[in-house]
Amino acid sequence: MQVVFVGAGPGDPELITVKGQRLLNQADVIIYAGSLVNPKLLQLAKQGASIYNSASMTLEEVVAVMEKAVAAGQKVVRLHTGDPSIYGAIQEQMDLLDKKNISYEVIPGVSSFLAVAAALKQEYTLPEVSQTVIITRLEGRTPVPEKEKLALLASHAATMCIFLSVHMLDSVVEELISGGYTPETPIAVVQKATWPDQKIMRGTLATIAQTVRDAGVDRTAMIVVGNCLNNEYALSRLYAPEFGHMFREAK
Ligand code: SAH
Repeated sequence: MQVVFVGAGPGDPELITVKGQRLLNQADVIIYAGSLVNPKLLQLAKQGASIYNSASMTLEEVVAVMEKAVAAGQKVVRLHTGDPSIYGAIQEQMDLLDKKNISYEVIPGVSSFLAVAAALKQEYTLPEVSQTVIITRLEGRTPVPEKEKLALLASHAATMCIFLSVHMLDSVVEELISGGYTPETPIAVVQKATWPDQKIMRGTLATIAQTVRDAGVDRTAMIVVGNCLNNEYALSRLYAPEFGHMFREAK
């Protein structure tokens, strides 16, 4: 394989896959997404590897570096934060590589929405609460299709993991409430999950915006909303004395 897209994981350098780590170690050229990939991962690079930060490069420049390396018989790793398939802009890179007949492979990574569940010590799919996880974002410079507007998605009352939107938290809350979540619905914001400076903020739709503002958090954070965060809810129903079920009679 000439080019490998590797999911770097959410931050903690130990959360890259074993395969990703091996390929990173064998690469002659590494192009990493500078804003979010933990630079500690670059310590895995072999001596003499060329390392590029894609933060300051255009799509064409990234692909030109790949093309040149491949022509010289070198192995290229393109390191993306979390899992490359989620807001990773890899499709356009793969399409250009296809046009140039350059072969590639994708190695998955631990996406930040999963690292956030771990940080919150939270199951997203609680029986009788929600069996669905919605991954989405608020519209920014990248438009969001009409049918996927936050308020519409909110009407399902599923667990929602909202990427790339914490700087617009007021609008997020507004849309969630207009979509049907009550102001008492629990919500959490996790900044830099698995990094040493990870921050967890919890509240309700009514309180979270102020909490997050006070903490000065406006980037690299995940918003999780839904009644799954209200663990008590499912438990109290299931174990409440007035509820009987197959294995226990109501009192
Ligand atoms: N491909 C990545 C997402 C890239 S988009 C993935 O699978 O996670 C960048 C957004 O991801 C950020 O704005 C933030 O919403 C989220 N994000 C990335 N790393 C994060 C982390 N360690 N903790 C919380 N959110 C994170």
